[in-house]
Amino acid sequence: MPSHDDVAYKEQKVNPPQDLGFHRNAADHLVVTGTCSVCRGWNEYVLVNVKPGTVAKDWPWRRKAGDEKQERQLDCRCPITHPGNDDEYTGCGAWWSVRIPSEEAS
Ligand SMILES: [Zn+2]
Ligand SMILES: [Zn+2]
Repeated sequence: MPSHDDVAYKEQKVNPPQDLGFHRNAADHLVVTGTCSVCRGWNEYVLVNVKPGTVAKDWPWRRKAGDEKQERQLDCRCPITHPGNDDEYTGCGAWWSVRIPSEEAS
């Protein structure tokens, strides 16, 4: 794993991680993994299947109008608090769109 870059917190849209990956965990939830292209922090999102219309409060992605089933917007959630992030959330503020493989979108 490349070393983490301690960049200043900044909200920005970036390209998806080059090593973007999908797999199923033991609970059969879809897991999206990838290295943030800004800070190189490791990101892992467990996408729990929920009924349409219900959004868990701490979902890491924002819904996008229209193509909401196929595409998610994921925020960088590396475990590091970046400088300039007064709220001390983890992540560097970068976010990217991820296309969920259609066979996994149910
Ligand atoms: Zn980071
Ligand atoms: Zn990041």
